[in-house]
Amino acid sequence: MPYPVAHVLFFVFCISAAAVYAIIRSIFRRELSLRDSIQILLLLSIGSLSALLPDVPAIYNLIVNGGSGHCWIGPVPTHSFLFSFSAFMYGTLAGLIAYGKFSKAIYLGIFAEAAFLSHLLLDDAHEGSCTYLYPIYNKSISVFSLMNVSFYENGLFNYLIKSFLSVFFFCFVIMMALFALNQLGFEFKYRSKK
Ligand SMILES: [Zn+2]
Repeated sequence: MPYPVAHVLFFVFCISAAAVYAIIRSIFRRELSLRDSIQILLLLSIGSLSALLPDVPAIYNLIVNGGSGHCWIGPVPTHSFLFSFSAFMYGTLAGLIAYGKFSKAIYLGIFAEAAFLSHLLLDDAHEGSCTYLYPIYNKSISVFSLMNVSFYENGLFNYLIKSFLSVFFFCFVIMMALFALNQLGFEFKYRSKK
């Protein structure tokens, strides 16, 4: 599995690249107040911690037992959509504490969920698969290998569906992060020229 720092950097600089651009732009324009900076730090901290959440058991084993162990919480594999709900809950709870409003906290939950899913994508790219669909389907699936489906062996329809699904999942994670960021103060829109 990639190192923890790689997961955090992947989420911040790849999945949330638009936000990084907006932050740097605001810093150079001296538009960020102390309050804005604290809000952004909170966002990035919650996102970074959520991007590490699937590997918490492995990090625990590394520190306590001196070796990387399996990634399970009880019977639930941590690299699954089911366990990703914990990131959503964690982000929403942190948002409730920070903002005091559920209507705003839920967007921090969505941001945390996107960070968690970005971890699965990076592990998938590196290790070849994740148990995304546990407990509906207990075997590992590789989203990235779907992009490498043979056109001749699978036929045109199968090829198009699998390619679309793999790219759409990647796009979906990025869109989740952008949507949450947009609701939490970042502006992304097309500016028509007049
Ligand atoms: Zn992992």
